[in-house]
Amino acid sequence: MIDGTNLKATSETSSHAKPNLKPNLKKAERIAYIDQKLKALYPEPPVPLDHQDPYTLLVAVLLSAQCTDERVNQVTPALFELADNPFDMAQHSAETIREIIKPCGLSPQKSKAIKRLSEILLEEHGGEVPAEFEALERLPGVGHKTASVVMAQSFGVPSFPVDTHIHRLAQRWGLTRGRNVNETERDLKKAFARDRWNDLHLQIIFYGREYCTARGCDGRVCEICTTCFPQRKHPKVVNKP
Ligand code: SF4
Repeated sequence: MIDGTNLKATSETSSHAKPNLKPNLKKAERIAYIDQKLKALYPEPPVPLDHQDPYTLLVAVLLSAQCTDERVNQVTPALFELADNPFDMAQHSAETIREIIKPCGLSPQKSKAIKRLSEILLEEHGGEVPAEFEALERLPGVGHKTASVVMAQSFGVPSFPVDTHIHRLAQRWGLTRGRNVNETERDLKKAFARDRWNDLHLQIIFYGREYCTARGCDGRVCEICTTCFPQRKHPKVVNKP
């Protein structure tokens, strides 16, 4: 598996380095720089999905799959008006739920998942959202990323939810050679202090939204990349998750 950033960093800091530019930062230096830079830019990152408690957060995160947070926040007021707890939600048909959540996409699957997970919360967890990865990941429509967001943002458990955007940025910043979000999560957890994971997840998302769009940049434009990789000569090729 090829990681273009690290290969380039190695070659560009050796005999092919541009003479008038500073050398690329070493990985430990990149980690420290990115950590402090993101902390300074977003000192108290807010949770982007509107919610009132672990249940409404769980439903909102489930809805955010392949949908923007903005769109989810437009849809959830009507959904939570209908039902903002598992007991009330389980009373409604998947079809009723689907009519409301249609703008989020994947509504047939998401509506069935919301109804069924509400029933399971009542049947197996006393109507509460469990604060355990394993139990969360057994719920329909809830994968590791969704469980990690709930664990981080509702229960304060250090987690590092990695979506495709964080996966892309972590590669552009030379923090991982991950071929998928799981490998990237593993590398980011090794790189950063545990007590920074929850905030960093949000800070990287905000930075990505503000500066680093999916197709908008070749990895040689804004301050983080130009500070970390002044010798970078070519666009960073990113592994698709
Ligand atoms: S230079 Fe481009 S890829 Fe790097 S952080 Fe900035 S916007 Fe993202």
